[in-house]
Amino acid sequence: MAFNIARAPAASLLLRWLASLCLFASTAAAQQAGGRVSGAHAPRPAASPEAGGARPLWPGSRFNAADRARAVRRGLDFIYRTSLSPSNFETYGSDYLWCFYTIGESVSDPSVRRTARRMGVERARHWRRTHPSLPDDADAGTVIDYAFGGEAAESLGLPDPRLKRQVRRAASALGARDLLLFDPRAEPPPADVPAECEFDRSSNPRGSSRCRRCGRELRMRTPQDVWYDALITAYVGERYGVKLGAGYGEVLAWLPALRPHRGVESPEFYDTVYAITHVVYTLNDYGQRRVPASLLPEEFAFLRANLRAAIEQGDADMLGEFMDSLRALGLTDRDPEIREGMEYLLVHQNPDGSWGDPGERDIYLRYHPTWNAVAALSNYAWRGDAPRATKLRLLRALKE
Ligand SMILES: [Zn+2]
Repeated sequence: MAFNIARAPAASLLLRWLASLCLFASTAAAQQAGGRVSGAHAPRPAASPEAGGARPLWPGSRFNAADRARAVRRGLDFIYRTSLSPSNFETYGSDYLWCFYTIGESVSDPSVRRTARRMGVERARHWRRTHPSLPDDADAGTVIDYAFGGEAAESLGLPDPRLKRQVRRAASALGARDLLLFDPRAEPPPADVPAECEFDRSSNPRGSSRCRRCGRELRMRTPQDVWYDALITAYVGERYGVKLGAGYGEVLAWLPALRPHRGVESPEFYDTVYAITHVVYTLNDYGQRRVPASLLPEEFAFLRANLRAAIEQGDADMLGEFMDSLRALGLTDRDPEIREGMEYLLVHQNPDGSWGDPGERDIYLRYHPTWNAVAALSNYAWRGDAPRATKLRLLRALKE
């Protein structure tokens, strides 16, 4: 459910991780000391009488509605706890805000909505205090991060028109290639954008095959990866009222160029999943509206055919994305894919309330799978059976 993949300046990011390690080590130690059984397959606590009692979620399920509700609450608490770390929030603040905002807007459980909203408003106040104005030397990544944070804080009820004007001015001085890494008005999603250097984390210009700092060979990002990053950026820009390189429709228009989507055997499988789920998220404002599967038949078929790959790979983050999108496209708790996904997530929650690898040091890779699992285990309060009219028009134009 990435909002901001936080392409933060690499070197400083590493330092922040190192700085945050002590805190997390002590948190983990405290949790261990709490006496919970460690490991993914902790025994299920006895069912509590709350929220639907002990009846299984469906015939044969090992879990009931109270287990599911408790898992969601523990996951949300984990996300909030990690967002309170200054270094985590400095690096991923805008993404945390979007997480709390979207959960607070989209899920149907009123107490989860209230809790997520309260967490989001508290964190948004802090974000506003620490982001009073755009730095004079802001590069494209910084401009995008301020737009994302500004948008999310505004959605949480804390607008800042002065900061928005600064972001707008800075964005207008940058081009689509700066902000989106390609110009969707002039070219398809490109295959020549290098990933950051795996050795020294430096960024290199498009077309480079070797790192200009260390000379090592660079891995290229897939067109799917570059494209969905651009899709999110353009989407957020439109919500915020600041053009970030191109319009959302101009980026979405390249979806047909990414078809046919190739399955788990292909090297771009992972990025294809996230590209498709972010089509759905940006069409339905991250879980707020349904999207008729008839409008995205190839994407629906791809997701349905490949959800089990996420379970087989033990990838809670990807599984959550699959489940969110498939439910927006019409599947429900009655479908076997969704049931399997829920069982997997309920079995694999960590003792600290998170999902994913508890030994992972990058907090993004800890809170993000947790966010996706929380969303996947929640019911959505759909506000409509289709995307808004402007987006429907864009979708229909794709097919003509
Ligand atoms: Zn390098």
